[in-house]
Amino acid sequence: MTETFTGSFTQQEPIPEAGIAAALEVLRHGRLHRYNTAPGEIAETALLEEEFAAYVGARYCLALASGGAAMACALRALQVQAGDPVLSNAFTLAPVPGAIASLGARPVFVDVTEDLTIDLPHLEVQAKASGARVLLLSHMRGHVCDMEALIALCDRLGVRVVEDCAHTMGAKWKGVASGRHGAVGCYSTQTYKHMNSGEGGFLVTDDADLAARAVLLSGSYMLYARHRAAPAAEVFEALKLEVPNISSRMDNLRAAILRPQIGMLDDRRARWRALYQAMEAGLAGVPGVRLIPRPQAEDYVGSSFQFLLPGWEPARVASFVAGAAARGVELKWFGAADPAGFTSRYAHWRYAAPEPLPATDRVLAGLIDMRLPLTFSVGDVAQIARIVGDEAGRAAAAVSVAPVAAPVAD
Ligand SMILES: *Cc1c(COP(=O)(O)O)cnc(C)c1O
Repeated sequence: MTETFTGSFTQQEPIPEAGIAAALEVLRHGRLHRYNTAPGEIAETALLEEEFAAYVGARYCLALASGGAAMACALRALQVQAGDPVLSNAFTLAPVPGAIASLGARPVFVDVTEDLTIDLPHLEVQAKASGARVLLLSHMRGHVCDMEALIALCDRLGVRVVEDCAHTMGAKWKGVASGRHGAVGCYSTQTYKHMNSGEGGFLVTDDADLAARAVLLSGSYMLYARHRAAPAAEVFEALKLEVPNISSRMDNLRAAILRPQIGMLDDRRARWRALYQAMEAGLAGVPGVRLIPRPQAEDYVGSSFQFLLPGWEPARVASFVAGAAARGVELKWFGAADPAGFTSRYAHWRYAAPEPLPATDRVLAGLIDMRLPLTFSVGDVAQIARIVGDEAGRAAAAVSVAPVAAPVAD
């Protein structure tokens, strides 16, 4: 019997009723722009920033139009200039190098390890070779590197860290919220992330100068006093005529949708963890499949699942992915020759003139990725794992693999 999965890998949960009600109220009064407030009214966007800052334990928070806009804003606030090198992960998604390129700056890619985190020795090599002063660190697919070691290294190198927490909103490292280790933390509230407003993002920081620059950059005109998670007016005084307006604000409609979701993040993390662990249990022991170890220090949000097929030939990986797809299981392969959907990798980002990274190529050649939306049940995940395990075995049998030399008996 071959079973087929019939669920959708891209169907998220609906917006909570409280968010729908708040959104309708904004639509009814019509004041969608964050600075369009009635006398005495506090905008939904300002309240959202205050509440998200409290959730992650940050002094300042700015809501923005997207996660990509948050990263670009953070880099601008750090005064990265056109032509400057900016370190980033070789394994990440296209908006990360895109944020660097949006300033006319130059991404310098750092290898990924077999545990899918940034390679610290290679980070040091690339930092020294390029002279970069900033790292845009992507916690890609929720895998967090040893943050103490990373921050110690970057402090030693004089490199400031912007964290891309698109996949770690709600996650922690040793009890500290992801996004709170570097100078700035950036988040996305795009539909496929951990809170959903269609599009949207945040940045958080404890640095008053960076926060004021970010607010001005986002397009605050001279209305920055209406923020509730921004520095005091004096900090803006010195900057307000120096910093350009690069409009990328969030609006009150999205903020209304998001506010009730902050309080749901911890519960979502627990539910995602249950799905993730069901997948891990279902794939444990499948021959040819390497699961990614998760460090104790990492309180992760398992909104997606990755595994490696070390040493598999491309034809065998392709046949495995096709076999799973035929049974309703949507796997993404980061090693395919051409990008499909979101699976582009550093070598495809030609505008950045990437140097070959053989260690990263080896990892990505066998890297399989799948989403685990919260609309899946633990039973769904168990079924997906059975299909993946089954197809892994089938791919081994169907594709003629180069004969392996018999073990030498000595
Ligand atoms: C989605 C994503 C972003 C950017 O988010 P947008 O809100 O879509 O701009 C950044 N980094 C990673 C790794 C992402 O997956």
